[in-house]
Amino acid sequence: MKSRQSSDKKYSTSQPPEENLIINFRLELNKYFGLLLLALLSPYAVTHIIAGDLMTSIFPTTIVILAALNSISIIRKKKQIKAFNFFYVIVLVALVIGFFLEGSLITYWHYPFALIILFSVGQKRARIMLLLSIVILVPVAFYTTDTATAARFAATYFMVCVLGDVVVRLMDEAHQQQALLTITDPLTGALNRRSMIYQLKDAAAGCRRGLGTAALLTIDIDHFKNINDTYGHQVGDDTLKAVVGALTQRKRELDKLFRTGGEEFIMLIRNLDKKGSIAFAESLRAAVEQTDITHGQRVTVSIGVADYILDESVDDWIRRADDQMYLAKRHGRNRVSPPHITGVPAEETG
Ligand code: GH3
Ligand code: MG
Ligand code: MG
Repeated sequence: MKSRQSSDKKYSTSQPPEENLIINFRLELNKYFGLLLLALLSPYAVTHIIAGDLMTSIFPTTIVILAALNSISIIRKKKQIKAFNFFYVIVLVALVIGFFLEGSLITYWHYPFALIILFSVGQKRARIMLLLSIVILVPVAFYTTDTATAARFAATYFMVCVLGDVVVRLMDEAHQQQALLTITDPLTGALNRRSMIYQLKDAAAGCRRGLGTAALLTIDIDHFKNINDTYGHQVGDDTLKAVVGALTQRKRELDKLFRTGGEEFIMLIRNLDKKGSIAFAESLRAAVEQTDITHGQRVTVSIGVADYILDESVDDWIRRADDQMYLAKRHGRNRVSPPHITGVPAEETG
């Protein structure tokens, strides 16, 4: 947990936190790949340059320069240089020429090459690159070395590619699961606060760029303490799950539900005008009211609605939605504020 947090800080990008984890992981690996290539290939490149063998030195030199630039870019700018395709082609050509110049000795370099591809780019692209490398390198191996050596190379290279692909897939899946856990509330499955600020900032930025509208609904369960006090904490927990279930069932795919406190939630909704947002909030309120929690018990919610006003801060936006929710509480609970049909004094709504 600790290392994940510190790595988030190191490589904070404009990506949502769950994607950051995977991006940071690949960046961190590529930084070390670059530094290793720099350390291991530089002597080789320099020796050939000193020997005046410029043709042979051109490939290791280019690879070392690209790898070094990539590592420096990751360390300084937190992102990779956009030359991986170029890097791939250069190394592949070098490995083909290596067969002609060094015979089977060059095969030692094929395996780290496969690993770098596997860990550097997305899985689909890596598969295409590796398949292409197999199709090119194996025939060259048979052409330039004896059959037994080429057959061994073909089998072991294929094995490294397939096993590497499986490992990367398992790792990516584990990462995604772990990433999902870090942004999800374990009790209700709603998103937690961690990803909320990013999502709200993103929605606000979208509004400013004219990409539709956004509204916040602050949702608070009414008299929830009574449920706990009367039926116990377990029923309280079941109630929270049932309320989230009812809200989730009604929300659209692009709407996001966050659990922001004990029995408090925020829903971010997109592309509904003010009237539409209030009507939607009203439908959520009614859905919760009609949900059978347990033992025929029902609960109600009070909802505050605030559509995003251009250039206000996310904090102000949340505050306005909160204020509306407290208004709904003050006016008797189990209602939406501002109301769908006028019922709350005009000067208090906003
Ligand atoms: P109001 O209508 O004014 O919102 O009243 P309320 O009782 O809902 O609000 P209050 O803030 O007084 O009480 C919230 C309660 O939520 C208190 C706390 O024990 C309970 N709570 C917070 N988190 C959890 C949880 O995860 N599970 C359960 N069962 N209860 C929780
Ligand atoms: Mg409450
Ligand atoms: Mg509350």
